[in-house]
Amino acid sequence: MSKPHLPSEFELIERYFAPLARGFPGACGLRDDAAVISPAAGNELVAKTDIIVCGVDFQPDAPAERVARKALRVNLSDLAAKGATARAYLLDLIVPETIDEAWIAAFARGLAHDQNEYGVHLIGGDTSSTSGPITVAVSALGEVPTGRIIRRGGARPGDDVYVTGTIGDAALGLAVVRGELSGLDADAAAFLVERHRLPQPRVALGPRLLGIATASIDISDGLVADLRHVCEVSALSADIEARRVPLSAAARRALAADPQRLAAALTGGDDYEILFTAPAAAHAQIAALARSSGVPITAIGRMVPASAAGHPSVIVRGERGQPLAFASEGWTHFGTDP
Ligand code: ADP
Ligand code: MG
Repeated sequence: MSKPHLPSEFELIERYFAPLARGFPGACGLRDDAAVISPAAGNELVAKTDIIVCGVDFQPDAPAERVARKALRVNLSDLAAKGATARAYLLDLIVPETIDEAWIAAFARGLAHDQNEYGVHLIGGDTSSTSGPITVAVSALGEVPTGRIIRRGGARPGDDVYVTGTIGDAALGLAVVRGELSGLDADAAAFLVERHRLPQPRVALGPRLLGIATASIDISDGLVADLRHVCEVSALSADIEARRVPLSAAARRALAADPQRLAAALTGGDDYEILFTAPAAAHAQIAALARSSGVPITAIGRMVPASAAGHPSVIVRGERGQPLAFASEGWTHFGTDP
């Protein structure tokens, strides 16, 4: 079998990537060694990178368009959670020789689609080959009013814990893909699978949390694990109630069929919703924000002082107020939870 023919790196850049830099003068049409990006007066740059690897973060049969869009969107989700507005991104693409030009073309189409949707431009990157799996690293650049970025560490005791949208759809969608969730109607199954396949980063909402949220994170590892990240940096614990965690109609149907999956919903990854904390005084403002943005925002519990021993923890309470125990709090690449 002959190897698929891939044009040279330079031809690929010219044909597929340079068009994605159009409209961003600082990128020089990808004909220079580096790009220039200047934030608006009063803003500073926010930088974030995320790698996705074939076989780890996406399946080998995933369409190239979706791989591209996911690689971009997971970064946009992080910027949104920081209150930042995305401007541009760099792309590092490392592909095996089994990849052909059609794959690259489809990959670039996926990027073009999402650039349009999110108002960002490709401004540079690097291209290389490997004997290993397809590896895609996107580095996104956004801007935020100077000094105003929403950190993980700003939560205060007594703050309410909020989440946007619905939680657990992606984890349940993964269970559907794996054929582990039966007895679900086709519409609900399709909804959950779509939530698993392609994140919908909360880009419009994130910047509107500036001045409201004391701490924020995007939910990529799982609700409990990401809330724990906020707890650790804020040196607090969180006390939340499972029944208050917002679930989609499809997720509720899945859990009605198989109540054991609640743990997967609360600890599974890939929701790409925003988890944030805010003082009680912000309650009315948050309700107004949910109404005007059309994104549900739900309070699920409260930040409390860490234990006497000073260990931040996440307490998730069941129907009778009893703390629930989970085998794992969320996704991790290496090792297991402490
Ligand atoms: P260098 O030799 O300095 O690594 P390259 O020849 O790899 O430079 O890149 C030339 C130009 O093309 C640069 O502007 C670089 O940012 C851009 N570029 C290379 N690969 C990509 C890619 N995968 N996506 C976007 N831009 C790229
Ligand atoms: Mg290079």
